[in-house]
Amino acid sequence: MKLIDRRSIGVRFWLYFSGMAIFILVLLWLLQIVFINSFYQTIKIRQTEEIGRTVSASFGTPNFEGTVLRESFRQNASVQVYNEEGILVFPLNPLDYIFQPMVDKGDFERYFRPLTQENTKEFTYVSPYEGTENSAILYVTYLGEEAGHKFYLSVSSILDPVDSTVEILKNQLVIISIISLILAFVLSYFLSRRLAKPLSNMAKTARQLGRGDYDVTFDTRGYTEVHDLAQTLNYATGELTKTIELRKDLIANVSHDLKTPLTLIKSYGEMIRDISGDLPELRERHIQTILEEADYLTGFVNDLLDLSRVESGISALELEEVDLEALTRETLSRFAHLEEEGYEFVIHLKGSPMAICDASKIRQVIYNFISNGVNYSHNQKRLDIHITEEEDGVALSVQDYGIGISQEHLEGIWERYYRASANYKRSDVGTGLGLSICKNILELHGFPYGVNSVEGEGSTFYFVATKANPQ
Ligand code: ADP
Repeated sequence: MKLIDRRSIGVRFWLYFSGMAIFILVLLWLLQIVFINSFYQTIKIRQTEEIGRTVSASFGTPNFEGTVLRESFRQNASVQVYNEEGILVFPLNPLDYIFQPMVDKGDFERYFRPLTQENTKEFTYVSPYEGTENSAILYVTYLGEEAGHKFYLSVSSILDPVDSTVEILKNQLVIISIISLILAFVLSYFLSRRLAKPLSNMAKTARQLGRGDYDVTFDTRGYTEVHDLAQTLNYATGELTKTIELRKDLIANVSHDLKTPLTLIKSYGEMIRDISGDLPELRERHIQTILEEADYLTGFVNDLLDLSRVESGISALELEEVDLEALTRETLSRFAHLEEEGYEFVIHLKGSPMAICDASKIRQVIYNFISNGVNYSHNQKRLDIHITEEEDGVALSVQDYGIGISQEHLEGIWERYYRASANYKRSDVGTGLGLSICKNILELHGFPYGVNSVEGEGSTFYFVATKANPQ
């Protein structure tokens, strides 16, 4: 196994989280250290220009001088107004009236002259400030003419060096970066483990399940998604266990049911060979038993095939209009030999017997109902078959007056291999698959079905088919 699986959720989460922490730190360094000078300069230039524009907007108004003074105090900028000869006009202190300070001729030509010549109203210069390492910002603009004089405005401010601030910030950032990187790595490591833990637990449980341990339960604690997944897996495990139990039962039952007739066939064969071979009467009885057992085997295998076909759902329904009475009569003809033994089958029809269903499958249901009625008739040799058109369908019921089914078994009889009496004698019951085939067929049709039974008095098995042309 690799030490670090880059595709695991835990490692992915850890990488993303740590990556994000590094990204944020790099951003912080860039903004705080690398670009801080140009940020500062841009902001300072904007402030200086704002002062210049505020002052020049008030040129010609009575509170022009007040504005100049107020703006000078703001941001520590020096605001000055010159006339066209470069002589300082405002603000002036008492000595200025005597000395008349003025801008250097060269500077005036360089900075102010272009304003009136080049049709440009304002300029901003950033240049090294004489004698220091600092830079200065100079904003100049032409104010306008008054009393025959042209006036110019200059606003200058100094860019303080940010190096010392940067140094302090750098030291702080180093500490912050180290702490947050360690925190990010450690925290995300533990978080990612917690995040991935329920999933790896689940994988462990699933492996156990795969090895054949069906008693496992998936841990449903944790996040909603994990909870849902675990619940689904638990449900699937339950169903799987049921199927496996059923398969075990089925194999046990099937092998038992195959073994009994085979043993009988073998032992009767041996009896014919050793004893009854020359005794025609006895031999005839033995051969008859062998034939009956062979028939039973054929019926049993057919039932199994039917069941697996219906259960797997491969046999799609072929719905058509069916006369249930005719279908019942046709089915009864297979029991004709029983009439010789005194059995009586009575059909009672009320309304129309026309239904929509798959004839061959419903025939099988009717056959199983009747054959059970006969099997469990206990010498009460009468069966009543009612076909009744009702409001929401055509009901077909098969009523016998035999042994009946006790309350506790009523639910179970539709299951595969369920037998109401534990000590059944195989010769007088079927394969234990009949009703389960009926149930599958009726559910495939979506027909309501059921049984009413009183122990010792008899049972009535019924289903309600869809009516053809309902009015
Ligand atoms: P089997 O082949 O054993 O008859 P079925 O699936 O047809 O299997 O029936 C399941 C069980 O239901 C039977 O073993 C029997 O105990 C009970 N049962 C079915 N039909 C009747 C009935 N008409 N009267 C009494 N018990 C019945």
